[in-house]
Amino acid sequence: MRIGTIDDRPALISEHGHCDIATASGGGFSPDALALLDRWEEFRGWAAESAGQLAWTPFTDDQLGPPVPLPRQVFALAVNYSDHAAEATTELPEYPIVFTKFPTCITGPYSDVALPSNRADWEVELVVVIGRRAHGVNAADAWQYVAGLTVGQDISERRVQFRKPGPHLAMAKSFPTFGPTGPWLVTPDEFANPDDLRLTCAINGEPMQDSRTSMLIFGVPALIESVSTMVPLLPGDLIFTGTPAGVGSTRDPRRYLAPGDVISSEIEGVGGMRNTCVEAG
Ligand code: ZN
Repeated sequence: MRIGTIDDRPALISEHGHCDIATASGGGFSPDALALLDRWEEFRGWAAESAGQLAWTPFTDDQLGPPVPLPRQVFALAVNYSDHAAEATTELPEYPIVFTKFPTCITGPYSDVALPSNRADWEVELVVVIGRRAHGVNAADAWQYVAGLTVGQDISERRVQFRKPGPHLAMAKSFPTFGPTGPWLVTPDEFANPDDLRLTCAINGEPMQDSRTSMLIFGVPALIESVSTMVPLLPGDLIFTGTPAGVGSTRDPRRYLAPGDVISSEIEGVGGMRNTCVEAG
């Protein structure tokens, strides 16, 4: 099952178009994405029962917003692919290095990315959307707490990030529009193996990142266990799981995002996003 937001309302997505969930349920479910995720199990039951009777309406890319427009908490991982650790010349972590992206940075899969400077960088990432409150969850049970997977970009302002005596991850990665997500969430049952998905990023069509989530140092189950040991995860929370090698700031010569650049981000079995860079107003 695929669920996105169309014109800011949660919708089921299929090859036939979209189906507005609040309308199709006769008002049974809220047109607010977070309220829908708060009743995720009930919603899944309704969606399974209603599958044959839904009416689909075509939509265009620019109607798609982020699957969760204003999550309560957004977690992100630093150094969670060994090839990215190597290019960033940092040691492999013994424990997940978790930081926060503030929820106001979240934007849609076709939204513009507003560049505050000439030092913004790309980071394609698998993003986990939580579907049930998770506190003290074991890795073995962790997938049961996941509503779905989506694509994310953890856009990063490197000058702020590396201000001494930093790093200042939370601020450098939380400018408005620094968290494109989408194009929709895909429920875990749709994947043959949700722990092994190819993810790629291209700038203006030129390949920059190409890896697989099986290369994560801490995979989705380990991350949910680790975070939920300390902080309860809530429905709609996002976890940006970290980026593989190929970001701009470690290339030779270094490369950063410029106005007009188009960031294409894709994950196998989920879909793709296309974000155009503009100068912040
Ligand atoms: Zn990142």
